[in-house]
Amino acid sequence: MSLTKKIIIGLIAGLAVGLVLNLAAPDIFSPLDSYFFGPLGTIFLNLIKMLVVPIVFFSITLGTASLGDPKKLGRIGAKTIGFFLVTTTIAITIAIGLTYLFQPGNSGIDPSGAEFESQEAPSVVETFTNIIPTNPIQSMTEGNMLQIIAFSIFVGFALAMLGKKTEGIYKLIEQGNDIMMFLVNLIMRFAPYGTFGLLASAVGRMGLDGLEAMLSYFLVVLGALLIHALVTYGAAVSTLGKMSPVYFFKSFFPAMTVAFSTSSSSSTLPISMKTAQENLRVPKSISSFVQPLGATINMDGTAIMQGVATIFIAQVYNTDLSFTQLLMVVLTAVLASIGTAGVPGVGLIMLAMVLNQVQLPVEGIALIIGIDRLLDMTRTAINITGDAACAVVVTESEKRHQNSNFNEDPAATEA
Ligand code: ASP
Repeated sequence: MSLTKKIIIGLIAGLAVGLVLNLAAPDIFSPLDSYFFGPLGTIFLNLIKMLVVPIVFFSITLGTASLGDPKKLGRIGAKTIGFFLVTTTIAITIAIGLTYLFQPGNSGIDPSGAEFESQEAPSVVETFTNIIPTNPIQSMTEGNMLQIIAFSIFVGFALAMLGKKTEGIYKLIEQGNDIMMFLVNLIMRFAPYGTFGLLASAVGRMGLDGLEAMLSYFLVVLGALLIHALVTYGAAVSTLGKMSPVYFFKSFFPAMTVAFSTSSSSSTLPISMKTAQENLRVPKSISSFVQPLGATINMDGTAIMQGVATIFIAQVYNTDLSFTQLLMVVLTAVLASIGTAGVPGVGLIMLAMVLNQVQLPVEGIALIIGIDRLLDMTRTAINITGDAACAVVVTESEKRHQNSNFNEDPAATEA
């Protein structure tokens, strides 16, 4: 049986077991969760998290070094960021449109009693200046993704410029990368059991509580996520990436299931890179650059949740938003999703920034927090799919670029 099938079975079994225990035997669930489901899920999560920092460092350094000339790096960088910004803007627009269409917040929800302690979101300027690490080792121990990415791009660039002189280090990093990829393959064998544990634990704890009251909000977010994945990514991979969307989703599915069960783009990174390289045939040099960056700054699923949640909260509190305010929502949700770290639940914290911007009560977050876990799982799967779609599109456009400059840039053959 293929690994994908095994993971899907693990996922469904986890859902079913969690739900049954939550509804029929909550007393049995508690000890089972503490000694079995919980540890099973945590072991899997820790195993993949263990690889994230070294993989990001090795692969981005290697990716940047093998892209070679700064022109190519700039070109791929511009295409990647352009794709991220355009798709995230489309995502929020779909989210806002659907929320106005279905009005989930106008179904008599009583906001009184909603309390939420908001945390200070970092300012935009702070986020940008902090990208350059003052101590790269500290960035690595803290797992600060943007800083690790920045440092790795610098090191990769130096390796490319120094060429033969630093061959030894280049080889070392290449071999380090091979070791990490080998470990990803090994750990993936444990994925079916890990996803079972994660799902049984999460579903067993939350059950269906809160879902009923918030069903329309939940469905609108889910609908927007689906539309965005199928239509936006479907169109992007078929027109710009010259790949059948069915093939794309089918091949990338294993990574989506892991994102779903871990709720973390960062943790899923080793697996999403491996899946894109092996199943979607994205060259290592492009995957190593686009996907770690995407897992950190490109969060279309998160932007969708933030778009729907903002309009939903405005509806619950009977506040009309002007057109300028709506534009503000789009802009701040793009920034908030860029600033959201690829770990569980942060999207909801960053939502406070969007709400503040348009003077909506931050306490509104309390209304949706109960069902956010399930949406977090779903939007994380979409977040990483956006990165993979981008990698496919950049791969295709680099091929065309290479064909039109076939006697220039021999390094592009590898890409
Ligand atoms: N869990 C999401 C991710 O890792 C971020 C979020 O929306 O909370 O992609």
